[in-house]
Amino acid sequence: MTFKSVNPANGEILASFEEDVDYFSKIREAERTYNRWKTADIIERIRLTLNLANILEARKTELAKEISLEMGKTLKSATAEIEKCAVTAKYYCHVAEEQTRSVEINNYAHKAYYRYESQGGILAVMPWNFPYWQALRFAIPTILTGNVVLLKHAPNVFMSATTLEKLFMEAGFEQGVFQNLFVDIDKIESIVADPFIKGVTLTGSNLAGSSLASLAGKYLKKSVLELGGSDPFVVLADANIENAATFAVKSRFQNAGQTCIAAKRWIVVEEVYEEFLDNVSDKIKKLKAGDPFEADTDFGPVARLDLAEKIEGQIDYLVNKGAIKLISGVRKGCLLTPTLLELNRELSHSFTEELFGPVACIIKAKDTEEAIEIANETSFGLGASLWTQDLENGEKLLKKLNAGNVYLNSMVKSDASMPFGGINQSGYGRELGVYGLYEFCNVKSYIIE
Ligand code: NAP
Repeated sequence: MTFKSVNPANGEILASFEEDVDYFSKIREAERTYNRWKTADIIERIRLTLNLANILEARKTELAKEISLEMGKTLKSATAEIEKCAVTAKYYCHVAEEQTRSVEINNYAHKAYYRYESQGGILAVMPWNFPYWQALRFAIPTILTGNVVLLKHAPNVFMSATTLEKLFMEAGFEQGVFQNLFVDIDKIESIVADPFIKGVTLTGSNLAGSSLASLAGKYLKKSVLELGGSDPFVVLADANIENAATFAVKSRFQNAGQTCIAAKRWIVVEEVYEEFLDNVSDKIKKLKAGDPFEADTDFGPVARLDLAEKIEGQIDYLVNKGAIKLISGVRKGCLLTPTLLELNRELSHSFTEELFGPVACIIKAKDTEEAIEIANETSFGLGASLWTQDLENGEKLLKKLNAGNVYLNSMVKSDASMPFGGINQSGYGRELGVYGLYEFCNVKSYIIE
């Protein structure tokens, strides 16, 4: 089987990759390396991770170009992605030693403590929308705690995956600490089943998550799932409308709408509905969809033609079901210009798919209470954002939003120091923050009588 990396801006084939025939030899290499890596001093692991952070920073423009070519995001956003990876690597270098120290327990007559110990090989299945960020936000803490990583990246970003593996080597990590597996998904079961694989993590769609989680269950492997979302963006009557509109548009259309935590449902109380709608409509009309390498482009093409066609189909479906097209996007190849749809509450509730492209949905609520109800009428639960100038009431309302990450007067975003993940159909487990260090550790208790 051959995988192709295709430039979504023009359809040009950038590179081809043969499937790994003997992927088990990579797993065995990972196992051999693990036997040394697990006993490496944390200071040495931190030193190598800092090297990686410095390389990412030094080479960010070159790395960003490859990302933009391969999956279509703007060069400026690809550069920001690499910068965020470097910041995150440094964050973990800063906290790893302290956060993985043995914890003494005093309520035993004798000596008792627990430690975070590595387990072995962790399989990561990752998507293409942030080719470096998704892989590294998991891999850095996982490797720092002494595990080794085998990455099955999305085939349309295998160029970036290849470079990423080389960066680990350049930083001084031993071959086998971080390796790509260029395999199709029909090989995943045999990998999960391998006794050296101690855990699996998947960032991607619900279908993929459910499939991998079933295998993890079958072979009794720990799993973490970072899945899709349909995040609500709730605008109350006393919100700063200009600010809310700016961030609604930014959140929804950045990365051509291909962000798990994008504000996918704008829920606006009727008092300020028209004002908000006028404001976002003006902003959307000014967005420039086009060449990812031009400085004034807001977003580039979506990553693959099948994905662009899928989004078109979802828009048609919603319009057939009664959605009103307030702004009509057009498609040229993989490039989609923005669409704005008005949905009623019932349609918003019954549409259970994720819209992973440059399509915003706006829904009117009669008051705050209904806005919160609509926000929670989803099978997902990744992020949620609420806009009001009454900070005290706003904070109370955040507690009513069913999501893993809630923001007041800000768009939802991930941050190195804050645990990140979803509930319900958006998955389980956490990345980032100190939780990112622990997910694949054996939290081992020692009691010495
Ligand atoms: P996807 O189609 O689910 O693919 C993600 C990864 O899973 C790819 O490597 C894919 O490989 C693999 N995969 C697909 N089906 C699989 C199966 N049955 N078993 C094992 N692996 C399988 O998702 P995508 O289109 O690349 O990414 C977009 C999705 O990711 C969206 O739903 C988005 O919300 C979600 N996402 C979530 C987060 C988060 O933090 N929660 C972050 C980013 C993205 P192939 O490509 O080879 O099929």
